[in-house]
Amino acid sequence: MRRIIFLGPPGAGKGTQAVELAKARGLLHLSTGDLLRAAVQAKTPLGVEADRYMREGALVPDDLVIRMIAERLRSPDAQHGFLFDGFPRTIAQADALAKITPVDHVLFFEIPEQALMERLTQRRVCPVCGTVYNLTTNPPKRHGICDREGATLVQRNDDHPDAVRTRLKAYADKTRPLLEYYGSRGQLRSIDATGSPAEVAERIRAAIP
Ligand code: AMP
Repeated sequence: MRRIIFLGPPGAGKGTQAVELAKARGLLHLSTGDLLRAAVQAKTPLGVEADRYMREGALVPDDLVIRMIAERLRSPDAQHGFLFDGFPRTIAQADALAKITPVDHVLFFEIPEQALMERLTQRRVCPVCGTVYNLTTNPPKRHGICDREGATLVQRNDDHPDAVRTRLKAYADKTRPLLEYYGSRGQLRSIDATGSPAEVAERIRAAIP
């Protein structure tokens, strides 16, 4: 039973690595960004509310995110361990999580801020399977087409420069304090998140044997 948190700025590669690690270790991958985007698409009351914030790159209010996660953690598939990607993102969320369950590892994706704008604006995703590409460093075999699904790749609507700036600021103001939060509890490990997905995956394997 492993309970892992991936912490780091948007564009650090948490989602890409989370998919691989969750598969390799049999963990439930919980991305609050993916859960919220699914709610937006399904036009649930949560989705309609969250959409207003997400479009601009602002964080969705804590109470909405915490309720969504608390509910998700009650389901049977979360009882064998989980990997959080994009949660917690504020001290209030970390406090709420601590009341629900302990965590075993918090892995911080360390990456220079200059690399992030470029990674985010070059990102394209498959609308069917969610595979993430980068136009420069990790392009699909056929331009604009998912290798797995053959679907036309899309750009997330918060990956344009204005929303990216807001997201980086939200990270600096609200999420970065979690380094101190988990660091002071002796739970934080850092990995170098620069380089190719394969290189980063190898560092993660070494950090969480
Ligand atoms: P992500 O896919 O992790 O980059 O998240 C995309 C967007 O979803 C963020 O910019 C926020 O608007 C929202 N979001 C995702 N996770 C959280 C969270 N833990 N707390 C608040 N907002 C979140």
